[in-house]
Amino acid sequence: MVSRCLACGGKTSQKRIRTENWWGEEFTLVENVPAWVCAQCGEAYFDAEVCLALDQLRQNPPEVKASLQVPVYAYPEAS
Ligand SMILES: [Zn+2]
Repeated sequence: MVSRCLACGGKTSQKRIRTENWWGEEFTLVENVPAWVCAQCGEAYFDAEVCLALDQLRQNPPEVKASLQVPVYAYPEAS
């Protein structure tokens, strides 16, 4: 467990969050992931077994639950 935020020293509490992952070229979301979340800055930390479980999910993904369309934008060129 991570009881103090490594970034700002704030207190963390255990929550279920949605993680955003790049699996190679594929952008994926995993919902309901247990994490320690800082009350001050929102930084999230994962226990070792959660990291392991996410790794296994990546290697052997279950059935896709839902798909989202994600807009892609270009950063404006300086004129
Ligand atoms: Zn923090």
